[in-house]
Amino acid sequence: MNKPTILVVEDDSSIKNLMTTTLRTHDYHFLTAGNVQSAIMQASSHNPDIVLLDLGLPDMDGVEVIHNIRSWSSMPIIVISARSEDTDKIEALDAGADDYLTKPFSVEELLARLRVTQRRLSMMPGEFESSVFTNGQLKIDYSAGCAWLCDKELHLTPIEYKLLCLLSKNVGRVLTHTYITQHIWGRCWDKDVSSLRVFMATLRKKLEAAPDSPQYIQTHVGVGYRMVRV
Ligand code: CA
Repeated sequence: MNKPTILVVEDDSSIKNLMTTTLRTHDYHFLTAGNVQSAIMQASSHNPDIVLLDLGLPDMDGVEVIHNIRSWSSMPIIVISARSEDTDKIEALDAGADDYLTKPFSVEELLARLRVTQRRLSMMPGEFESSVFTNGQLKIDYSAGCAWLCDKELHLTPIEYKLLCLLSKNVGRVLTHTYITQHIWGRCWDKDVSSLRVFMATLRKKLEAAPDSPQYIQTHVGVGYRMVRV
């Protein structure tokens, strides 16, 4: 299997070296950029498979890279940021980033995120061809509008079903509260976020064997939710 090309956007040379050494050791190809302008140039001229993006860059906010790339490509972007504030993560995810890592991070964590993203990439074509989604014991037939767990049909309310479809169609991606409520209700008010929590709890009761330690849907506290591949 061909190793993907990773674009590393990072202005801190010690972190950049750590990342590129890790990538080299694990036989990835990589390109580097130290600011927004060169990141956009590298992305458009080399069309990398995955972008690892620092948000604090010297010329502009790293979120500008996401806005630019999303205007012409859906290439996966993993934000790597020292900023632990949820608002920065949320802004980056709403702009179209796929995932985020908060500094300091471990090399193992970085490699794990890359593997998850690669797996998602390799599964994409099949998901577009087929109207049936499977993940572990979960099966959804989008055209029939039905979902099953362990071959038993799930009795979901329309909102729970919409929520499950949205998460499954974005499997591997962290979806923010705003993103989800806008897709489910077409708007995002504070009360929609509280309703979302309620619907998520009822959905989990039907979907998860142990709703308190969910297997399919992860909670990202203060940020949103992600369906993981099991
Ligand atoms: Ca930086």
